Amino acid sequence: MSVAVPLYILLMGVQGAGKGTQAQKLKEYYGIPHVSTGDIFRDMKNQDTPLAREIQQTMAAGNLVSDESTIAAVRERLKKGDVADGVLLDGFPRTLPQAQALDAMLAEMGRKVTVVPYLDLRREEAIERIVDRWICSQNSAHAYNLKTNPPQVAGKCDIDDAPLIQRKDDTPEAAAKRIDAFFAQTMPLLDYYRERQILRYIDARNPIDQVTAELIEKIDAAIKAG
Ligand code: AMP
Repeated sequence: MSVAVPLYILLMGVQGAGKGTQAQKLKEYYGIPHVSTGDIFRDMKNQDTPLAREIQQTMAAGNLVSDESTIAAVRERLKKGDVADGVLLDGFPRTLPQAQALDAMLAEMGRKVTVVPYLDLRREEAIERIVDRWICSQNSAHAYNLKTNPPQVAGKCDIDDAPLIQRKDDTPEAAAKRIDAFFAQTMPLLDYYRERQILRYIDARNPIDQVTAELIEKIDAAIKAG
């Protein structure tokens, strides 16, 4: 389906809820690019600047990058032509100042957030999923879970055959820290979007295809209502 009106979808959910996996499916269905702030920051790993080095250290420790750097990165990304008709944002916003900055950026363009699907998953389940997570070394959105969604050939990505790796911040300690930060800092965002009547809950414990179907149903309904 291609979109006639600009579509701004904010995919929210704790680490391990399946944002990356679902984003792959939604970007194809809606024909809009998937922008993950985590991917933007990971792609900076080969840049030799003080800011890039600081960001890599912050990420490896499981901490959030500063609002200032994150907002600046998103502002730059939203200027690119490929997102002129909308975008599927994943991992942003994560704090209230980021949500407010996003609203202001979109308002400058005469636009607004369309819908905020929230992939709902409990803390313990999130930690379990993260520790078993392996991602493709070529494309981190190709994610596998050794227990619930293993690759067809052990250690290889089903899509591009590249070796699978574990993220540096997917150790049990860093994962628990990131997940706790999510519940402390990002949960208040749910209230922000609930008040604006654009928040939609999706049960992230269901099988991948069922979650995708529920996401599409709720996003389509929000587009029609919007
Ligand atoms: P993710 O791939 O979304 O789990 O993000 C990986 C890491 O990138 C996070 O643990 C943070 O260090 C950083 N990061 C990604 N998005 C944001 C954000 N919106 N605000 C602050 N830090 C972020």
